[in-house]
Amino acid sequence: MEQITYDLIIIGGGPIGMACAIEAQNKGLKYLIIEKGSLVNSLFNYPLYMTFFSTAERLEIGGVPFSCIAPKPGRQEALEYYRNIHKHFNLNIKLFERVEAVNKKDNGLFVLTSSKGEYVSKNVVIATGFYDIPVYMDVPGENLPHVRHYYKEAHEYAFRKIVVIGANNSSVDAALECYRKGADVTMVIRKGEINNRVKYWVKPDIENRIAEGSIKAYFYSEITQITENEVVLNTSDGEILIEADFVLALTGYRPDIEFLKKSGVHINDGINCTPAYNPETMETNVPGLYLAGVVCGGMETHKWFIENSRVHAKLITDHIISAF
Ligand SMILES: Cc1cc2nc3c(=O)[nH]c(=O)nc-3n(C[C@H](O)[C@H](O)[C@H](O)COP(=O)(O)OP(=O)(O)OC[C@H]3O[C@@H](n4cnc5c(N)ncnc54)[C@H](O)[C@@H]3O)c2cc1C
Repeated sequence: MEQITYDLIIIGGGPIGMACAIEAQNKGLKYLIIEKGSLVNSLFNYPLYMTFFSTAERLEIGGVPFSCIAPKPGRQEALEYYRNIHKHFNLNIKLFERVEAVNKKDNGLFVLTSSKGEYVSKNVVIATGFYDIPVYMDVPGENLPHVRHYYKEAHEYAFRKIVVIGANNSSVDAALECYRKGADVTMVIRKGEINNRVKYWVKPDIENRIAEGSIKAYFYSEITQITENEVVLNTSDGEILIEADFVLALTGYRPDIEFLKKSGVHINDGINCTPAYNPETMETNVPGLYLAGVVCGGMETHKWFIENSRVHAKLITDHIISAF
């Protein structure tokens, strides 16, 4: 069978990969999305009862209205919305197929190797997000089965002692939800306060629960070891031990920088590992290879989100079209 040469292959079927596909479809480009999991796989893996910080219209793609009853949607509504987007545009997407390598050949075409086959394309967009790889603490005991890097729902933590590590949105949401379902919650926070990026309507809630002692918090503290029923903390008052039935190590997530490097993308020196790209076109140092969505921020995972990276789709497809 003759192999198709695509104008564009998009790696990642998240909201931004889908936005790129819609723009490509509208411009008559021959495109394909390859997604390693389900449609919008990161959102599928979010906590069951999370609420987006964005209002619904800021999560819209393809000009399709996102209506929900409250101003800010939850995970279920977002999944429903993006499923409907797929139905509406009938996007060309392969699900549950991981792209393992992207190589640019001497003839200028890209060859993508996936878990199921090989594809050829003139252009490639990497829209792989950041939610697949936790930022590990690298402490002994981190891989014990009661230590979790993703939080789904509170029920299994009810009436248990849990230690939540971190002071960002994920940790704060999990700590509050578990506390309200009957867990005995202790937070371990490296800095001296709850992060300023915590949703403005949630921050007073967690601060007040800590102030009244309903949720215990150790500031300026770090975990140094986890055992089957305790965590060892290094605090400003020295080392202490806390009992823990479960540890929620919600210490953040990071993009697959190795995959970017292997694909030829230059990664700037420094702790942020920012990938090199032209902000006007989203093209990387490899001609024809583009970045879209949150992956663009490197380790600065708060820099890009759905709201402000939807525009990448138009920048990329306009640039591809301009070369025709
Ligand atoms: C709990 C939480 C709440 C958030 N709330 C908001 C909000 O309110 N508003 C907002 O704008 N943003 C929010 N964000 C951020 C936002 O969800 C992400 O910015 C969004 O998912 C980014 O979309 P994306 O398409 O760039 O990446 P993702 O949605 O992460 O999509 C990347 C996709 O690529 C796939 N993939 C990865 N590697 C491969 C591979 N090798 N081969 C094939 N597929 C691959 C993944 O499975 C994934 O489906 C939130 C994030 C989290 C974690």
